[in-house]
Amino acid sequence: MAAVMTIPIYSVRTGRVENLIPVIKSEDVWRGFLTPQQFDVVRNRGTELAFTGVYHDCKKRGIYQCVCCGTDLFLSDAKFDSGTGWPSFSAPVSDHNVRVVTDRSHGMVRNEVLCARCGAHLGHVFDDGHPPANKRYCMNSTSLNLVLNLP
Ligand SMILES: [Zn+2]
Repeated sequence: MAAVMTIPIYSVRTGRVENLIPVIKSEDVWRGFLTPQQFDVVRNRGTELAFTGVYHDCKKRGIYQCVCCGTDLFLSDAKFDSGTGWPSFSAPVSDHNVRVVTDRSHGMVRNEVLCARCGAHLGHVFDDGHPPANKRYCMNSTSLNLVLNLP
């Protein structure tokens, strides 16, 4: 029997790192599951227009999860107003839960942020955030789903 590959994902609810099976679906399945705008952003690495997303100005408390697979990504406590028109966070809930890759599209070199479990495009991370880490995770609202009940 082939070993099933798992990846470590942190759960806010349990406070533990759990070994989970990656979520891999075909493009057709994602198309059936997501709205056209969600599909364009999360599967085709699109970017929503600034100030148009539902979360850029959101101050509610909760957990921002991946819209595709429900992985916990950011806590509202890490959210700050960057003035960019996109929801911005100082850090993910865990470095396990996001994957950062080099993105050379559009004539720029940027650090693209993906959901570690399903590969959804979330946004980019920049080094102009607040000290001490100076990180600004610049996310698309479209890629996120805010769950309001904190543990
Ligand atoms: Zn995901």
